[in-house]
Amino acid sequence: DEMDVDTIWQDGSFVDWDDATVHVLTHGLHYGSGIFEGVRCYDTENGPAIFRWEEHLDRFYQSGQPYDMELPYSREELTEATLELLRREGLESCYIRPVAFYGYGSLGVSPKDNPVNVAIAAWPWGAYLGEEALERGVEVMISSWRKHASSQIPTNAKTTGLYVNSLLAGEEARRNGYTEAIVLNKEGNVAEGPGENIFLVRDGEIYTPGLSESILDGITRNSVIELARERGYTVHDRATISRGELNTADELFFTGTAAEVTPIRKVDNVVIGNGSRGPVTEELQQAFFDLVERRTDAHDEWFTYV
Ligand code: PMP
Repeated sequence: DEMDVDTIWQDGSFVDWDDATVHVLTHGLHYGSGIFEGVRCYDTENGPAIFRWEEHLDRFYQSGQPYDMELPYSREELTEATLELLRREGLESCYIRPVAFYGYGSLGVSPKDNPVNVAIAAWPWGAYLGEEALERGVEVMISSWRKHASSQIPTNAKTTGLYVNSLLAGEEARRNGYTEAIVLNKEGNVAEGPGENIFLVRDGEIYTPGLSESILDGITRNSVIELARERGYTVHDRATISRGELNTADELFFTGTAAEVTPIRKVDNVVIGNGSRGPVTEELQQAFFDLVERRTDAHDEWFTYV
């Protein structure tokens, strides 16, 4: 295949990339009843290592809970399948995509007789918002679409169906010439990006919306909060951030498995701070890349070596 990967783990076995298919009457395809993860493996000084695999597995199982979706594989089985996939394909730096969904069976909205299918794919994937974005920052648009409220749908579960909102926000932004969107919650406060959490720096302190603001409990978010606190920063991790505060921020940045730590240099064409990567963002971005590429011994417990 074009990604130079030959196999995908699907329901307990390794199958050819082109054969990893589903029936068109798959429940998850019709109703968005799937859950997924996005995980990165880094080519580190000590060999390939998966960043925070255990936390991603925790979230994967937890995402199924509101939907009564019990995964028919243990943590050990999913871990072994993933490690075996990476070794087989000789993948070093890559993105890992576990997915589980209600499969082919009955077609009522309530799953009955539907199996829970599980697959894990992996492929090389560079900087999500572009290599240049990591240094220069991205220009973002505040989406006209609001994020679904956590009272309407569990926003802390990484459910496939939720991502049509991300698609709308991201595509609206790109149609308008921006790289990415910022999505406000139902109250009109800042929630997150379509696939990223957001951080704000003001007067040397760091703010990020809390879980009650309808965000995904990002694993990169949690890691960056910890790295920042270790460096002496005050981090307000249950902040409510109004739209207007974005414009007066000293710095803004996104975090996410795909986006890593990406500075935001403009919001709706208003320049943020000095209009490029700010000093706090740069320090935390450097700390993040030093960590994930293992140029430090810190937090070795966050890595699963392939
Ligand atoms: N918010 C949303 C909506 C996301 O899809 C993601 C990506 N999983 C994130 C935040 C960042 O989460 P993480 O750092 O765990 O990748």
